[in-house]
Amino acid sequence: MEFRFEVALCSWLEATTEWLVARQLGGAVASPGSRIVDVCCLEPGPEFDQRTRITSQEIPSLAIESDVGLGEAVFWRDAFDCSADHARSVIERAVDCGFFETEYRNGRQYVRQTTRYPDWIGRLVGIENKPDLGRPGDLDRQLRLDVSLGLFDEVILATKSYVTRAHLNRLPEAVGVWRFDPDSGERTVVRESTPLSTAEPGVELLESKPLRTDIEFVTPAQKEEKQRRIAERAYGKGWRNYEFPACQRMTATDDGRPHCSWFDCVVNPAVDCGSNCEGFESGASPAVDLEALRDSRSRWVADPEGVSRTQSGLDRFS
Ligand code: SF4
Repeated sequence: MEFRFEVALCSWLEATTEWLVARQLGGAVASPGSRIVDVCCLEPGPEFDQRTRITSQEIPSLAIESDVGLGEAVFWRDAFDCSADHARSVIERAVDCGFFETEYRNGRQYVRQTTRYPDWIGRLVGIENKPDLGRPGDLDRQLRLDVSLGLFDEVILATKSYVTRAHLNRLPEAVGVWRFDPDSGERTVVRESTPLSTAEPGVELLESKPLRTDIEFVTPAQKEEKQRRIAERAYGKGWRNYEFPACQRMTATDDGRPHCSWFDCVVNPAVDCGSNCEGFESGASPAVDLEALRDSRSRWVADPEGVSRTQSGLDRFS
């Protein structure tokens, strides 16, 4: 139910906004794995198109944060504040995706950026899905954490349930509330969100024990770094990050969601599908190009020309 709700909401957001939409990304700083946000949306910043030209993939954050710049190439080891192995793998990925280029001088590898890292990150919106408010799970802790940390500019709760005044009173005031129908794609704003102070220090709620909640302060600089990491993850990953099973009953909807004709609904392949399923009928998985779909339905570009100047760099040192 939650998966079906989530991908329907992602598709709706993709169709009705300019936002870049991704699912299931880490949304905490001090204890990164402790908060996974259901839907992360990025409002494009002024240089979004420049970002699309570099690569369709995530640019490794350590490459962006390193001392590798645009001008003179630097000796690779001097530019990273991490282990040599880790630095090597970051450089490899950054070269692969076209953000770095390398040169060799006297057998030593030098690196530089192929282009300036653009100012492409606008506001971030975090959406927590709780289709059935009668089964709130960890909702209270999640939303309190989001609001006190202030990593996202806006935090929204999306639900299929009818939202009562009692529900609203229990939620942190800044959290916006949407009622969303995954079948009709109708969205009603029950309560507008209040923008959070992302430029102020935040408080991350760690473990809650009886009579005590551990916290950690998070600086604006730490938040900015995490926001960029979320934006890069979102750009590389998107929301159609599932694989279609090799079952004859599986088809893709026009927007690329996995639909099962046996159960006549969208299913979560990772959870619902497999040879143990009562309707499983071995066959080819549907031929659908999810990247082409994402490209045609959003501002993400599947196959940009790239900005690498590698060829001229090689010529110069050959
Ligand atoms: S494995 Fe089951 S749930 Fe998945 S597509 Fe086939 S019939 Fe549907």
